Amino acid sequence: MSSKIRIAVLGATGSIGKSSLDIISRDTEKFEVVLLASRSNSDTLDELSKQYPNAVCVSAQKDGKKKLLSSIAESKPDITINGISGAAGLEPSIAAINAGSNLALANKETIVMAGKYVLQLAKEKNTNIIPVDSEHSAIFHLLKRENIVHEFSRNEHEKNKISEIILTASGGPFRNYSLEKLRNVTVQDALCHPTWNMGQKITIDSASMANKGLEIIEACLFFNMLPEKIKVAIHPQSIVHSMIRLCNGVIYAQMSKPDMRHPIHDAIYWPLTAPSSLEPVDFDNLTLEFSKPDTEKFPMLRLAREAAKNGALFPCAYNAANEIAVAAFMENKIGFLDIPRITESVLQEDFSGDCMNLETILNADAKARLIGLSLF
Ligand code: NDP
Ligand code: MG
Repeated sequence: MSSKIRIAVLGATGSIGKSSLDIISRDTEKFEVVLLASRSNSDTLDELSKQYPNAVCVSAQKDGKKKLLSSIAESKPDITINGISGAAGLEPSIAAINAGSNLALANKETIVMAGKYVLQLAKEKNTNIIPVDSEHSAIFHLLKRENIVHEFSRNEHEKNKISEIILTASGGPFRNYSLEKLRNVTVQDALCHPTWNMGQKITIDSASMANKGLEIIEACLFFNMLPEKIKVAIHPQSIVHSMIRLCNGVIYAQMSKPDMRHPIHDAIYWPLTAPSSLEPVDFDNLTLEFSKPDTEKFPMLRLAREAAKNGALFPCAYNAANEIAVAAFMENKIGFLDIPRITESVLQEDFSGDCMNLETILNADAKARLIGLSLF
C-alpha cells in the first residue's frame, strides 16, 4: 500500500482541474492521482489517462453519473478536488464526503445549494471541507490563523471576534459600463475577464456579479455568518483575495497573484503551510484600489443577499435560476440583463422548505429551473 496522498480530481479537464494537476505534478513524491473525472469523453481526458496511467478515468456523459459517484468511493481518495462546474458538482461532493475523503472545494454551488447539509454531513463523517474559491480560501486560512474555524463560530465569544468578512471582487469587464451599455453586451464581451482566466460559466457570472452573489451566500453558509456581516469591495487588481475585520477594528487581508494554483496548493497541503514555487507578489510597482459595488447596475448582488436572508431553499433557487439564464444567454436566446430579471422572478416563488434534506434540495433546484425556463 503506497503511503502517498491519494487525490481525486473532478472536473479534471477544466480550468480548476488543470491548475490542480499542475500543483500535484510538482510534488509526485507526496501525491498520487487516483481518479480523473470530466463530463465529456474528450481528447483532453484521453490525454490525461495516458499521463496518469494508474488513475481511473470517468466521463459522466459516457459512463453515467452513477459510475462517477461509485468511482469516487471505489478510488478511496484522501482528498477530492471538486472542480466540476455548476449544480452537477453537488452529488460528487456528497459522494466524496460519504467516502470519508477531505474535500478541496472549488465547486461553490455545493455550498450555495446545500451548505448546511454538506457541512453537517462532513462533521458526521469526520472529514474536512477546505474551500478553494479564492475568497473563501483566504477567509478560511485567515480564520485558522486567528484560531477561529467555522464550527467554532457557533461559540458566541468566537463569533463576536469577527465583526465583518470583506469579499473582494474584480468587478469584471463591465465594472465601468453604464446600465444602458450593459443592455447590449454580447457573450464575447462578457467572456473577457480582466484578471482571472476561468471556465465560461464563472466568467459570465463575474461579468454580471452573480459570482460575487454566489460567494456572499457561500460565505454566509460556510462561515456561519449573517449576510449583513459580509461586505463586498471592488478591487480591480485581484491581489487581495479577501479580508476579515476583527472586533478590535483591525483588518487582516490575504494577498497573492490572481492564480488559482495558490488556493489549490493551500487546500491540498492543509493543515500544513507548505513551500510553493509560484510567483510571489512584487510590491515594487503595485497599486491597490478599492471601491463600492454598484448594486443598481448589478442586481445579482442584491438578489443574492435577499436569498441568503430568506435562507431555506432560496439560495439553491438563486443558483438554479442563474444557471439556466446564463446557459440561455450563452446561446444568444436572452440578453445580459435578462439574467437578473429571470432570477428575480424565480425568487418571488416559494422556496421555503427543508434545506437539510437532499431530495428537497434537488427538487427546489428542478423547480427553479422549470419556472426560469418559462420566463424566456
Ligand atoms: P470549467 O468549465 O473550466 O471546467 C468544468 C469541469 O467540470 C470540466 O472538466 C467539465 O468536463 C466538468 N464537468 C462539467 N459538468 C460535469 C458533470 N456533469 N460531471 C462531471 N464533470 C463535469 O470550469 P472552472 O474550472 O472554471 O470551474 C469549476 C468550478 O470551480 C465552478 O464551480 C467554479 O465556480 C469554481 N471556481 C472556478 C474558478 C476558476 O478560476 N476557474 C475560481 C473559483 C471557483 P468537460 O471538460 O468534459 O466539459
Ligand atoms: Mg471566487
